[in-house]
Amino acid sequence: MLDADFFRRWMTATAAAVDREADRLTDLDSPIGDADHGSNLRRGFRAVAAVLDEEAPGTPGGVLVLAGRQLVSTVGGASGPLYGTLLRRTGKALGDASEVGEKEFADALRAGVEAVMQLGGAAPGDKTMIDALLPAVDALGESFAAAGAAAEQGALATVPLRARKGRASYLGERSIGHQDPGATSASLLIAALAEAVDE
Ligand code: ADP
Ligand code: MG
Repeated sequence: MLDADFFRRWMTATAAAVDREADRLTDLDSPIGDADHGSNLRRGFRAVAAVLDEEAPGTPGGVLVLAGRQLVSTVGGASGPLYGTLLRRTGKALGDASEVGEKEFADALRAGVEAVMQLGGAAPGDKTMIDALLPAVDALGESFAAAGAAAEQGALATVPLRARKGRASYLGERSIGHQDPGATSASLLIAALAEAVDE
């Protein structure tokens, strides 16, 4: 079973990964964006780690809803509301249970990813964070490690795609040949799940 502490560790591990990889995320956002993805997410996840330290909600749902709210209020770019929606909707789907099973979590995360698709209008193959998140959700029933590998594969697979959503879509054909920054950060988020286990 996964408790509030597991979800807090997930957010902390994500914040550490984003911190470590922020320069790379910003570099990926240079040719097909405005070179702010790393700094956007670093600011957001630092704020998430800080608020969770301060408030420490007692339920998995409470942790994710608070984290999502914090992202929305601290990240200016498109990715703030999108990641904020992902975490808030996932948290809402978990309700007020004090512990959740892995299957329940997988179902909740799927609801979160669907909410992101609804908000941003992106479908698989549009070269966005969805291309990492959806394969991860599909693999989550197997293991966290499998979900992490699927997300990473999904991020790599955005390279040959032409962007159809977000800032990169303004480039049309010229978006081809570059890895999507949001799919890359999404793979960090999913990879952090395995790190949150038995710490
Ligand atoms: P901005 O584009 O406002 O500068 P960021 O650089 O922080 O925001 O985030 C860019 C990332 O957001 C993209 O790489 C993409 O993965 C994701 N993204 C942008 N628009 C959408 C959308 N409509 N649906 C899903 N993801 C999106
Ligand atoms: Mg950007």
